[in-house]
Amino acid sequence: MADTHPTSNAGFEDLLEANRSFAESFEYAGFDGIAKAGVAIVTCMDSRIDPLGMLGLSAGDAKIFRNPGGRVTPQALEALVLGTHLLNVQRILVIPHTRCAMASATEAELHERVTASAGTDSTWQPFNVVTDQLATLADDVAKVRTHPLVPESVVVGGFVYDVDTGLLTQHA
Ligand SMILES: [Zn+2]
Repeated sequence: MADTHPTSNAGFEDLLEANRSFAESFEYAGFDGIAKAGVAIVTCMDSRIDPLGMLGLSAGDAKIFRNPGGRVTPQALEALVLGTHLLNVQRILVIPHTRCAMASATEAELHERVTASAGTDSTWQPFNVVTDQLATLADDVAKVRTHPLVPESVVVGGFVYDVDTGLLTQHA
């Protein structure tokens, strides 16, 4: 039987070569993994978003949790609780963005497109689309603010990132 997930470098050569260059000037050895700037970011997986760059931060400064839509899921809350208690997080930004596929298509439309691409039914795979992005952002920020294990001293904000201008606008 063919192994569909071979453990080999095939297909990753360029990335591993880049990694060797990266490691030549590696600066983070021995770093303890706290958020040096005290920041945690929940944002979308969208490749147009540079979560550190858009806030003037660098590697080591922030804990970053990404998923489709930039949603405050149970796993995001898990990350934020750990971040606030163990990793120096004092400010949390929840950042969905303009022109997000998760906020501009219906779940049926996404299933139609994925089913066409996969050539097999995709409807068993949930896609958690957002119908009202700002209302959802307010709900997601409230989930963080009211979480019993997120300290009241932690500052929580909800922002929309404009993928065409690079600007953040606070909404919650
Ligand atoms: Zn998105």
